[in-house]
Amino acid sequence: MYLPFIGAGLGTILFLAYLGVPLLPMIVIIGIGVAIWYYSSAGTKVGSYWNKGSSQDQRNAIPNIQFTDIGGQTKAKQELMEALDFLIQQEKMKDYGIQPLKGILLTGPPGTGKTLMAKAAAHYSDAVFLTASGSEFVEMYVGVGANRVRQLFSQARKAAKNQKKNRAVIFIDEIDVIGAKREGSQHKEYDQTLNQLLTEMDGIKKNDIPVFVIAATNRKDLLDSALTRPGRFDRHIAVDLPDKAGRKHILSLHVKGKPIHDEVDLDKIARETFGFSGASLASVVNEAAIYAMRDEAKQIKMKHFAQAVDKVLMGEQIDRATSTEDKKRVAIHELGHALVAELLEPNSVAQVVLTPRGQALGYVRHHPKEDRYLHTKSQLEKQVMICLAGTAAEETWYQNRSTGAKNDYEQAIHLCKTMIDTGLSSLGIIDMSLIDPDKLSKEVTHILNELYEQTLNITKRHYSFLQDCLNLLLIEERIDGEQFRDLLARELVS
Ligand code: ATP
Repeated sequence: MYLPFIGAGLGTILFLAYLGVPLLPMIVIIGIGVAIWYYSSAGTKVGSYWNKGSSQDQRNAIPNIQFTDIGGQTKAKQELMEALDFLIQQEKMKDYGIQPLKGILLTGPPGTGKTLMAKAAAHYSDAVFLTASGSEFVEMYVGVGANRVRQLFSQARKAAKNQKKNRAVIFIDEIDVIGAKREGSQHKEYDQTLNQLLTEMDGIKKNDIPVFVIAATNRKDLLDSALTRPGRFDRHIAVDLPDKAGRKHILSLHVKGKPIHDEVDLDKIARETFGFSGASLASVVNEAAIYAMRDEAKQIKMKHFAQAVDKVLMGEQIDRATSTEDKKRVAIHELGHALVAELLEPNSVAQVVLTPRGQALGYVRHHPKEDRYLHTKSQLEKQVMICLAGTAAEETWYQNRSTGAKNDYEQAIHLCKTMIDTGLSSLGIIDMSLIDPDKLSKEVTHILNELYEQTLNITKRHYSFLQDCLNLLLIEERIDGEQFRDLLARELVS
């Protein structure tokens, strides 16, 4: 399409050169013009929909993801399907005089399946699917972002027409990049882009193909009210971290088609992966398969999953040379955590490990019995004691402490502050922002000292148990929760 212009341009340049006209300034000017055209047309730079080519329709095709491919998120899926039903049953809506929905905002932490939900929405509503990220609209030049928004919507309509579909879905990830609140001096380029998006969302003409926008953000609090007001993204759907049942469902979807050993207990893995997103769970399954392959095992076993969970949680195992004395101290420290955890919260220890991973020289992996969202004072106190137990064990064994407990203290202090903030300390119900920092610090120290004394009593009482486990941990470098409980049960009856 551009060939005749390129030919004519080259011909003109040759002719001017023949006449002896100086060409350098002209070439520079033409170069700048081409660069500006390149960026503003956004013809080939980023994103699937800006690329013009024969496989364009294939890229905008209806995604092959369905709601049944998404684990957990029962409520979010249901809300989204309901909203899509409005989109699909337009005629019925008209009869009732219901305004069509323009956009849905999916909010939630990274990796929880927002993109999957948007794809499934396109599949469900039999719509062509285009995707873009907020950051792709951001350019230095004023007007470029707005132009890209225009192109995106027109591309969506074109793709729908080409594929003989009645609607299109546009998914905009990281909407906060263009839709964040402006304070003070406004950024003109961002404003133009956002305004263009709002205009396109408002401006569905009669008989035009409806374009439905699904946007996603991890930071809903940052969004401008122009975006969240009724008539714009007025349906907000939370796509949160999955609960235990959701995690098990996600794991079961990702293990499909993989050689899984019969011993693999997805319920146990789901219990041990509290706080994991769908993306982390997908990664656990993938890493477990990699460990099985490294072992040249025919099937993926429970031990491969345990290693995979550790890797996703703590990072890759590292070859950090540790002196024998340091290793022994780390072992005692971790055994202290495990001992107190198991005594205060029976069945909570999943593993005690002495191999360095990420920043840690050793670690105890706990599994909460069930997902907890509320905590009592006594539960928080137990958590603080478990944090302090590493230091208490070191003091019991060596009569001194080391620098290895910095993270434990940070966690313990955070828990103490939560107790104070939620009215569970001796200060009663208070407003944290009004409290004197000195008083706050004294209360934190008071709680820590009291709980440390109780923790130290426990580790001292079980000195011989620490000794038994120490030898085992130094040799095996890993004690499984079940094995640890057996040893502790024997200690408690003796
Ligand atoms: P971000 O906010 O970082 O863009 P997201 O919420 O859009 O993340 P997705 O891109 O949808 O997350 O998910 C990433 C991958 O994680 C998916 O391709 C899938 O493998 C897995 N995943 C996430 N959530 C789920 C889920 N609920 N069910 C099944 N797989 C999931």
